[in-house]
Amino acid sequence: MNDALELLRGAPALWIGIAVLFGLSIGSFLNVVVYRLPRMMEREWAAQCAELAGTAPAPQPAFNLATPRSRCPSCSAPITALQNLPVVSWLALRGRCAACGVAIPARYPTVEVATGAIAGLLAWHYGFGAVAVAAFAFCAAMLALALIDFDTQLLPDSITLPLLWAGLLVNVWGMFAPLQEAVLGAAAGYVSLWLVYWGFRLATGKEGMGYGDFKLLAAIGAWLGWQALPLVILLSSLAGAVIGIALIAASRMGRSVPMPFGPYLVIAGVVALVWGDAIVAGYLRLLG
Ligand SMILES: [Zn+2]
Repeated sequence: MNDALELLRGAPALWIGIAVLFGLSIGSFLNVVVYRLPRMMEREWAAQCAELAGTAPAPQPAFNLATPRSRCPSCSAPITALQNLPVVSWLALRGRCAACGVAIPARYPTVEVATGAIAGLLAWHYGFGAVAVAAFAFCAAMLALALIDFDTQLLPDSITLPLLWAGLLVNVWGMFAPLQEAVLGAAAGYVSLWLVYWGFRLATGKEGMGYGDFKLLAAIGAWLGWQALPLVILLSSLAGAVIGIALIAASRMGRSVPMPFGPYLVIAGVVALVWGDAIVAGYLRLLG
């Protein structure tokens, strides 16, 4: 065991290679989470409504992250293990279901490649060790949240709350921030967006964001510490402005369509975790 750790420590290319392969398979799992978790939540809500209404919920087959096995959404043909390899299977099948030939969205292999690339970059950036693993766990959860928010305008508690606790736990060892700053970051992250929400709501009568956004910023604060929050808010506003203008210019969506804020918080949180210190140092140098 110790020999294996020493080997990885001494061979960065091997460490990065393993990280990329691991990232590809986690990316494949994230696709399942992003597709199924919102549907699992809908089922739960329907069951709760039925219970409140006093009607017995209709019995339904099990549906969770593990059951049923992956199948083609069009023809329901089960997807074999060989057809479930990240990226490779999609390329081998030329992006089509082997049974019915319906197109498999390019988003699946894209998410897998992106997750593999993120894992490789983090392994290279942090080198061998627990910090790289923790940073990858953070980024993988954040990617899942961004995609689910983009698809459904939901940020599931079942991801944001464990992410918050995980941030406090890794910072027990001060991995990304001293524990004291992490605890304050979790509280300040939640409260700051809560204040913005109520200010906006009282001023305009509209809801600008949801409670999921508060929990997401609380989780980011738990990982990065409270000092990082102004940078995260600044970066997310910048990302929102740039991407929002690009989307409107491409007229893919009208200006009145609500755009979830979560994906921008995710981009900002990841950038701030990995490059936050460098950005602040560079800014201070600019000020002279
Ligand atoms: Zn099919």
